Amino acid sequence: MARIEEENGVTVIYVPTPRCFHCGENGEVPIPFQMFEVGYPAYLAGRYIQEAFPELSAGMREQMISGTHPACWDEIFADCKGEDID
Ligand SMILES: [Zn+2]
Repeated sequence: MARIEEENGVTVIYVPTPRCFHCGENGEVPIPFQMFEVGYPAYLAGRYIQEAFPELSAGMREQMISGTHPACWDEIFADCKGEDID
């Protein structure tokens, strides 16, 4: 179940995310309670994540869906860079 913490007077829900295929670690996405309260039921009901959480960054949305951490995406793309395709 999600972890709940108070940060600077704001309640933040840490939603667990699937295992990242790049680093093999599970993760969490921090979502402010007001956003979570509205968006999460919509998301579970089948809404697109960008509709359920329009304020969430693309990287955080991706992590919620696939588990891949934004930093891991950066590494994956960094690995791809510099490989010339002839
Ligand atoms: Zn990762």
